[in-house]
Amino acid sequence: MTKELKESQLLLEEEEKNRTLAVISNFTDGLLVFDKENALSLINPQAEFFLKIKAKEVIGKSLSELSNSPNFRPLVNLLMKKNKEIFRKELTLKKNLILEVSIVSIERPKKENETLVILHNITREKTVERMKSDFISLTAHQLRTPLSGIKWGLIMILKEDFGKITKEQKDILEKTYFTNERMISLVDSLLDVTRIEEGRFLYKPTKEDLVGITEEVIDLLKGIAEREKIKIKFLVEGNIPKVKVDREKISFCIQNLIENAIIYNNPNGKVTILLKYDKTKNQILFSVKDTGIGILRDDQDRIFSKFFRGTLAIKKETVGSGLGLFVTKNVVEAHQGKIWFESEKGKGSTFYLTLPVKEKNYA
Ligand code: ADP
Repeated sequence: MTKELKESQLLLEEEEKNRTLAVISNFTDGLLVFDKENALSLINPQAEFFLKIKAKEVIGKSLSELSNSPNFRPLVNLLMKKNKEIFRKELTLKKNLILEVSIVSIERPKKENETLVILHNITREKTVERMKSDFISLTAHQLRTPLSGIKWGLIMILKEDFGKITKEQKDILEKTYFTNERMISLVDSLLDVTRIEEGRFLYKPTKEDLVGITEEVIDLLKGIAEREKIKIKFLVEGNIPKVKVDREKISFCIQNLIENAIIYNNPNGKVTILLKYDKTKNQILFSVKDTGIGILRDDQDRIFSKFFRGTLAIKKETVGSGLGLFVTKNVVEAHQGKIWFESEKGKGSTFYLTLPVKEKNYA
């Protein structure tokens, strides 16, 4: 290689390096790189700003040295805990600074692995989320009392406490009563969602028989199933041991899954409910299979998100809040169980949930 060629290659390499450094310096996320000994080898200006620290004070320091700095400590705690890569972990540095932390390993040929830490500011999103949640909570609380007032007023009139009513009046009042009940259950779901998000959704576990709970729920939904021309089959495999659950909340989950299987079914369709005990895993498996509309592949990732309603479901049934599965998932996970589903457009869906039989702590 000629001298000129070598010089121009060096210039090119220098230029490439400067460009990379400029990109890192101007990046709107905070970036930190730790070497294989966990010493800090790079920190960009945005990370300096988030952590209120100067690069020259921290470069070359190990994780334990960095933990002496109060601003660095929460991040160091997270880094020390990690034994694998982290994706979008929320970290509150102070009340007005919430970061989303991702940790990835940088693999380069013939070089020791380094660790890249990315800090993304999500304070604004979190503030908006909290404002929305406060608004929902306030509205739901304000609506609950008048709706209960309407309910009891209607019950008294329907029971003819204030005098006889005609058949037509009774029919209309009954329809009004059921519409009001729907509103009450929507408001209750909204209150449940805010309680879940604020960590105030409390559990009262007692030893329960899931076969009995499921039978009660099926009985409650018999009317809707008949109206929709759906056949319900309930299978119990083996002896089902009693489990410690919050009866009211688990009943809600079972009802939500069976009700969805009826509503999102086709006329003359089938719903098959199965309850079985898996001895090796010491857990109960509950599943609800339907022959209904199914869930589009594109919608499947969001099915447990609050307020999400699938495209096919919106077409079939205009009424719905998209809150049932969000609450159900939270309740099942608080019981240390799992929930998932399989579904295919036009062929139907099967929702599964497991509940461990052993004594458990509630989240
Ligand atoms: P809602 O039924 O009020 O819309 P859910 O949270 O219970 O709310 O369900 C969320 C969404 O999941 C539904 O809107 C629907 O798109 C989909 N879904 C749930 N269960 C079924 C089912 N058995 N078949 C097809 N879609 C379903």
